[in-house]
Amino acid sequence: MEKQGFNPFAMAQAQFDNIADELGLDAATKDLLRNPMREYHFNIPIRMDDGTVKVFRGFRVQHNDARGPGKGGIRFHPQETIDTVRALSMWMTWKCAVVDIPLGGSKGGVVCDPHHLSMREQEQICRVWVRQLAKNVGPISDVPAPDVMTSAQHMLWMLDEFEAIHGSKLPGFITGKPVGMGGSLGRTEATGYGVIFTVREALKSLGIRPEDTTASVQGFGNVAQYAIRLYEQLGGKVKCVSCWDQEDQASYSFKKDDGIEFDKLLEITDRFGGIDKGKAKELGYEILGADAWLEQDVDILIPAALENQINAGNVDKIHRNVKIVAEGANGPTTPDADKVLEERKIFVIPDFLANAGGVTCSYFEQVQCNMNYFWEKDEVLGKLDLKMTSAFNSVMELSLKRKLFMRDAAYHIAIGRVAQACHDRGWV
Ligand code: GLU
Repeated sequence: MEKQGFNPFAMAQAQFDNIADELGLDAATKDLLRNPMREYHFNIPIRMDDGTVKVFRGFRVQHNDARGPGKGGIRFHPQETIDTVRALSMWMTWKCAVVDIPLGGSKGGVVCDPHHLSMREQEQICRVWVRQLAKNVGPISDVPAPDVMTSAQHMLWMLDEFEAIHGSKLPGFITGKPVGMGGSLGRTEATGYGVIFTVREALKSLGIRPEDTTASVQGFGNVAQYAIRLYEQLGGKVKCVSCWDQEDQASYSFKKDDGIEFDKLLEITDRFGGIDKGKAKELGYEILGADAWLEQDVDILIPAALENQINAGNVDKIHRNVKIVAEGANGPTTPDADKVLEERKIFVIPDFLANAGGVTCSYFEQVQCNMNYFWEKDEVLGKLDLKMTSAFNSVMELSLKRKLFMRDAAYHIAIGRVAQACHDRGWV
């Protein structure tokens, strides 16, 4: 959960300002890029199952569309704020640019807790979200996708509403749809797998074999689960995972030094990635506190939950043997913690590079929808690997050439591309 006083948008702007100065961007370009182009705030009134009406708050922020239609997920979260959505929309712009796909950056959110909503109530939220924005989003302007606590089912309800309003079939409106309903094979795996493609490349550059490594993962939702799966396939061992406990409103870490048994853990996990503590204990897991996942003696840390998780308060607890931090989540590391990682020479694979697999596969989904011809899973994942590996290598090359921290190198490439597109269009 977000700590009080943490503002992700201020963090995103501070990260941008640093690089903008290094790149020597002019004042107008800076002004344009440090703020979203457009944002929408709206009410979502829903008749609840008990007959009462509840009003939820919805947002869509379109940060920049100079390189193509806005792209980015919709989060359902009880602590969602407009500043979080602003930050996430900006990070989407950099994410699409660093992997060089023809899309801009957007993000959406609804302040709600799906743990306490029936599927019918969630469907209504999806439909009203689209009704409120039907004129301002679309296949060639702004394309939503799943994110925290939203799934392929939510995307299909949103698509259905959008198509009903427009009176035509428009599968390009949204990505992360179910397979067979315009979705792409591999989309569910894409973000987690993408994280591990970049980890594999980072290990290669450090001269370490994946089978000689161990990892600890924060989160056990979609991104974490597929990251763990592929990492284990490469021969790595996960010693600890952590997740949010809805009942206690607290996070716990689940540790097993011999390595977690992924499939068994999955059996005792709810659809939000919450692991059953009691059953985990029976399976022999040590149940530890929220930060224990980052204190483990492992080679790789994968924060794959929410923003602001590695911060000034806990960065010093990171074990001296940690060599790589691969950011599966968006914005998991605060700038002050980032400085510590840089000083300790930990190899950071920054969020908007490490977790770009999801949006890259969303782009493939759009391409397949446009052709109305769907690829085999291996083809999708093969193309994803190529794109992620090539983006990683470009960032790595710049980082070595200019002696830049990986995050800064990724920012140089991404911001440079977006600024150029804004110039070329004659905006600034
Ligand atoms: N929500 C994912 C992200 O943060 C994917 C976005 C998309 O596919 O558009 O990158």
